[in-house]
Amino acid sequence: MLTKKELRRRYIEERQRLSQEERERLSSKIVNRVANLPYFKEAKRVLLFCPHKGEPDITPLFSLVWEEGKTLILPKVNGDELKLLAVERETRLDVGAFCLMEPQEGEEVEPERVDFSLIPGVLFDKYGYRIGYGKGYYDRLLRRLGGIRVGVCYEFQVLEEVPRDSWDIPVDLVITEEKIYKGGKEE
Ligand code: ADP
Ligand code: MG
Repeated sequence: MLTKKELRRRYIEERQRLSQEERERLSSKIVNRVANLPYFKEAKRVLLFCPHKGEPDITPLFSLVWEEGKTLILPKVNGDELKLLAVERETRLDVGAFCLMEPQEGEEVEPERVDFSLIPGVLFDKYGYRIGYGKGYYDRLLRRLGGIRVGVCYEFQVLEEVPRDSWDIPVDLVITEEKIYKGGKEE
């Protein structure tokens, strides 16, 4: 099996090779599928993220969250941790650590209080194990994160299994433009 590091390099590269058109096409399918998930519909406090380096563009979900009267929460890098901030429509998003777009202000939300989250990743496997950028930010967050945790990526980023370390915490579901994976199986 390839190491996490080799897999990261290979799949970040592959993702960045997607044309803008293809990325938009796949992203809008993903957005529709998330919007129709009962877990999403029922959730009040929803953690999303600002896409980075070719990750699926899930930003159309931001307005949906607001329109449905839910609270939109976005992460902000704060030292070794991801701090979760409630984001209003008028909150300014700005470039923070690692060139990520982040809220600059907002009320802090305890991870335990989140009902539904979308978790970005470079790779996932069918059991929900994840490879990120290699800094473990989401592993540390997942230890405390409440609600249903959903990994989101393009179908080509789902492998049968990825290498696991003792600190890796799987997500509950993985959703792509084509499928939903749960506990090693397609739903
Ligand atoms: P990623 O999940 O971003 O792909 P890794 O799983 O390789 O990255 O983790 C990167 C680093 O983060 C590891 O070296 C590990 O020491 C650290 N790490 C991950 N989770 C924790 C945790 N819960 N507590 C302390 N350190 C952690
Ligand atoms: Mg990890």
